Amino acid sequence: MRSFRYLDDTAILHLSEDKCIGCGNCQLVCPHRIFRIFEGKAEIVDRNGCMECGACAKNCPTAALYVNPDDGCGCASYIINSWIARIRGKAPSGCGC
Ligand code: SF4
Ligand code: SF4
Repeated sequence: MRSFRYLDDTAILHLSEDKCIGCGNCQLVCPHRIFRIFEGKAEIVDRNGCMECGACAKNCPTAALYVNPDDGCGCASYIINSWIARIRGKAPSGCGC
C-alpha cells in the first residue's frame, strides 16, 4: 500500500496533540503507516502518504484526528484507479471528483 500515493501537500489530515492520549489506535489501523507513537503521543511521520480513508479518525477515542475525504483531496479513488491502471498497463486518469 505504501507505493500508492496521492499528490504531495494535499492531505487534510490534522492531529490535535493536546487531545491525544497515546493509545496507538491510529498507528494500528492506518494502512499507510502515517503515525508513530513517541513519548506518549501520536506523531504524523508521512503526511503525504495519507489517502484520507478515515480509519484513524474513526478509531481515535478522543477525536484528536480529523480528515475530510468529502473534499476530494488525498482521494482514495485516485489511488485505487492508479492501481487498476497500473495492472492494465495504462496511465492513471484521475479520480472523477
Ligand atoms: S486517513 Fe487513513 S491513510 Fe490517512 S492517516 Fe488516517 S488511517 Fe492513515
Ligand atoms: S488514536 Fe487518537 S488518541 Fe490514540 S494515539 Fe492516535 S491520535 Fe492519539
